[in-house]
Amino acid sequence: MDRQISSSSSKKACGCAERRGKQNAYIALGSNLGDRVAMIEQACKEMDSRGIKVKRTSSLWETEPMYVLDQDRFVNGACEVETDLEPLSLLDQLQDIEKSMGRRKLIDKGPRNIDLDILLYENEKVDHERLKIPHIGIPEREFVLRPLAELIPQKSIDPSKPWKFIQDYLNELPAAPEPLSTLTPICASVEPLNALKATRKTQVMAILNITPDSFSDGGVHTPDSLRDTIMAYVRGGATIFDIGGQSTAPGTLEVSAQEEMDRILPVIELIRSLPETRDVAISVDTYRASVAEAAVKAGADIVNDVSAGLLDPEMLPTMARLGKTVCLMHMRGNPSTMSKLNEYPEGIIPTIARELLERVAAAEAAGIRRWRIILDPGLGFAKVGEQNLQLLRHFDELRTWPGLEGLPWLVGSSRKSFIGKVTGVPKPMDRVFGTAATVAAAVQGGADIVRVHDVVEMGQVVKMADAIWRY
Ligand code: ADP
Ligand code: MG
Repeated sequence: MDRQISSSSSKKACGCAERRGKQNAYIALGSNLGDRVAMIEQACKEMDSRGIKVKRTSSLWETEPMYVLDQDRFVNGACEVETDLEPLSLLDQLQDIEKSMGRRKLIDKGPRNIDLDILLYENEKVDHERLKIPHIGIPEREFVLRPLAELIPQKSIDPSKPWKFIQDYLNELPAAPEPLSTLTPICASVEPLNALKATRKTQVMAILNITPDSFSDGGVHTPDSLRDTIMAYVRGGATIFDIGGQSTAPGTLEVSAQEEMDRILPVIELIRSLPETRDVAISVDTYRASVAEAAVKAGADIVNDVSAGLLDPEMLPTMARLGKTVCLMHMRGNPSTMSKLNEYPEGIIPTIARELLERVAAAEAAGIRRWRIILDPGLGFAKVGEQNLQLLRHFDELRTWPGLEGLPWLVGSSRKSFIGKVTGVPKPMDRVFGTAATVAAAVQGGADIVRVHDVVEMGQVVKMADAIWRY
């Protein structure tokens, strides 16, 4: 056999399915046919169900085709897996998954609905007619290096150059005409987010609080007015509706999960029944797993949890199982305690970054794919007054924080009390102009989605801000 093994983990150079304990490997994920993200997600599920455990994933990157240029754009990513299969048996399994997903090879390097390649397998070198590890394409392919650099930036792939890391190969590539961007799916009818694309349009998320006690718009919607409101928001440019049935304003009382569902489910059903809102995405604003699950069953596309899974231990596993895009917000404690939990000893941005990195790691460990994660810095949550201004002022530092790059951000400043403090406007619903300034600042800082109450007005602010900064 011509397989060489450079590590000491195995003594036998055979390709059989010998069990030898858990081994770490990195698999490239690629698709440019059909619902590309769905294909990759299905492949990950298939790996999991065959005991090739997907431990962590990179972001997904949208990339121009290489080699055969006359084909659609690719979606590429990578994942870290744990397996007890030998390299050749792992290849057999991956090829079997490709086949079971209907892959047919038409032309070499041509269109494919799914491509699963082994990039690395422990520190081993394999030189077999069917299998070369490390994958020979790694050094020249940005679409492989970028995802790998998210997972293992400090890893060398060439024993003769142990000092040369994945990140170094990436730095050596000639500059691409346009930088690659990550891609975050929302739903079939809404364009995915491209968090690193300079010309992306900011998405407007319209708040629909179906609560009698929300700090700003509680109790304003009657069943008759709701339909008109929804239509006006769509005309105003809203692409996502965020529906909440439990206020998280400081000090509000908790309602039961049943009450929360009774409030939001009819609204989700209403939006799904209107032809005018066929193309909008629905987000459910809840920290309860049971409510998130019921909302997704009723048609929600996004689970937006202000606690990033901290208030309900079932939330992260439920999100993983539902497979929808999720929004993880930075907060501390709960709505009654959060305003006192506002110490940021390392500075506001480094501390939020560190705490969000922990939430992202917890989400990934629960099985949520990295490309399904949106972050929210949590203005007004465990931050008071000036801290919110600092956060907005330095927001771009948070976006580019090591380990958070490429993730899209939702910013929710609308009508919050720090705006009232600066402008001297006591009533939240009168804080429209102050809110406008914060929305413009969020766009300049790099927000992908702004969450607002004054949808028509902020729709204009976003258009203007995009025209200035996202050209
Ligand atoms: P692509 O090169 O675009 O991935 P295929 O998926 O059809 O195209 O792979 C072509 C062949 O490459 C496979 O039949 C496989 O035997 C071989 N191969 C060599 N090294 C590897 C590797 N590290 N991972 C996956 N396939 C590999
Ligand atoms: Mg392949």
